[in-house]
Amino acid sequence: MFSRIAVVMLTALVLTACATSPTGRRQLMLVSEDQAISASRQAYVQNMGQLKDQGKLVTDPRTLARVETITERLVAQAVIQRPATARWDWSVEVIDEPETVNAWCMAGGRMAIYTGLINKLDPTDDELAQVMGHEIAHALANHTAERMSIAMASQVGVIAVGVASDSPGRNMALAATAAQLAVLLPNSRTAESEADRIGIELAAKAGYDPRAAATLWQKMGAVGGSGPPQFLSTHPAPGNRQQRLGELAPQMEPYYRAGGTRPTHPVKVGDAARAR
Ligand SMILES: [Zn+2]
Repeated sequence: MFSRIAVVMLTALVLTACATSPTGRRQLMLVSEDQAISASRQAYVQNMGQLKDQGKLVTDPRTLARVETITERLVAQAVIQRPATARWDWSVEVIDEPETVNAWCMAGGRMAIYTGLINKLDPTDDELAQVMGHEIAHALANHTAERMSIAMASQVGVIAVGVASDSPGRNMALAATAAQLAVLLPNSRTAESEADRIGIELAAKAGYDPRAAATLWQKMGAVGGSGPPQFLSTHPAPGNRQQRLGELAPQMEPYYRAGGTRPTHPVKVGDAARAR
């Protein structure tokens, strides 16, 4: 299957494949979303297995319960917006890295939050919902596949060798590596604007204050330490981020104020952490 991915990828390179994002933007697409999802699944299982062995997955019930409440409400809104994602294996782990201010969501709804983000930012629930809403928005808009395509394009020579040697195992490993790299690559500023727009709406509809989007990014910018938070290197600021979020907040207010019980969608929270 993965040797087929590599072939598809090479063909796509020749054709300079493009796809269109939800907001009408052209994206470089060398892998399909389904391919990105299966490669991400493999990378996630591998990565979380290693972190579990290193004792770096959080099992604290209070932290996990907080993350569960927020993500299950956000994912319910994601599924309303894109019903096909009800089939995704929505999961989240909290990674115990006190110096890492980061969070991500891979293709297929596999998410992670780092203790550095929780401890250094000390976010309110509204702000934490903005972080995860923004991450979920990247996955909904297929930005993961876009970044994975970029990671694969940079490895194209290596993958061509993989095809020539007709080694499916090797190609699978390469695809998983690209999926892993994808969470470390910066999003484009256009992708950032898309995720800001979709994320603040998901959060408002899930019952979280849209004004927290602006305060979250302020806190992110104010984090001290040896360098800027990892989150800011993978989420470069569109020049007018604060202004646009400020303008969006009043538009999202009615969703936030709507009240009533917010629906939830099941998310596997800390399953890898608790695995034996
Ligand atoms: Zn982003």
